[in-house]
Amino acid sequence: MRLSDRVNPFTPNPELRIWIDGDLRPSAEACINVFDHGLLYGDGVFEGIRVYGGEIFKEGEHIDRIFESAGAILLEMPLTRDELSAAMHETIEANGVEDGYIRLLVTRGVGALGISIDKASCPSVIIIAATIQLYPPELYDRGLRCMTPGTLRNHPSTTCARVKSLNYLNNVMAKAEAKLAGYDEGIMLNADGYVTEGTGDNVFIVKNGGLFTPPLSCGILAGITRKLVMELALVRGYVSHESLLLRHDVYTADECFLTGTAAEIIPVASLDKRPIGEGRPGPITRQLMADFADYRTRRRD
Ligand code: PMP
Repeated sequence: MRLSDRVNPFTPNPELRIWIDGDLRPSAEACINVFDHGLLYGDGVFEGIRVYGGEIFKEGEHIDRIFESAGAILLEMPLTRDELSAAMHETIEANGVEDGYIRLLVTRGVGALGISIDKASCPSVIIIAATIQLYPPELYDRGLRCMTPGTLRNHPSTTCARVKSLNYLNNVMAKAEAKLAGYDEGIMLNADGYVTEGTGDNVFIVKNGGLFTPPLSCGILAGITRKLVMELALVRGYVSHESLLLRHDVYTADECFLTGTAAEIIPVASLDKRPIGEGRPGPITRQLMADFADYRTRRRD
């Protein structure tokens, strides 16, 4: 059998229309060039963005972050903020997405072989508007069983984790390690032994009525959901502290949860087989999940 004859169970819906550099193309024709440095070197940046009730959630913050990521890797954005916003709206409308997920990518573009950034000077923009389900619904009820994988989070002095780059192998491998070991998710440590984040989500613990989350300086993405959760918690009178956390702090926490655009807020029931608190979603986590659900519904009114 030729490789190209295999049936891929993940073939995208042929009805899906993908925005590439100004054109909306059917998914089967939405291809990138093999000389794109995004493919050759993971050289590019991206965002994962939610659409709730036809509106792009936290659109301004996602656009800010992709511009910041691009700036950090010396990638000149080929569109203005307004053009990017218009392109995302065009894509959700073309695909009739009311509640879904946008994947926005900017690649270094087609270039010559070789990693120099001056070998690719024409960045490409790709927008996919579809749906995403990171975790099955039952995990929101029972909480994730997590482990600390041996794969450490990239050191902040390598490509900083605050750059949401197309090179996600660090996270991919940590997640694979956790799944192979029979866990739902990994909570990664940095080289100093401090807790950083999940493989695609930020992490919070609750202790004595306060929220604690690692600071950006320990090598994490500045999560947009993380920021919103801190604001929602404050409305309830829970102050969030950005502080260095050891695994010990998570083991002995009252509650723990992860936050992210795709996952929203998901409870963590255990870490390395130690139950956290009662070993099920705690009351403050459940309260914040409800507040988050209210918040995103209110945006539509
Ligand atoms: N950390 C990592 C590594 C991520 O990839 C993400 C986004 N999936 C997050 C945290 C959460 O960020 P946000 O809330 O902005 O989606």
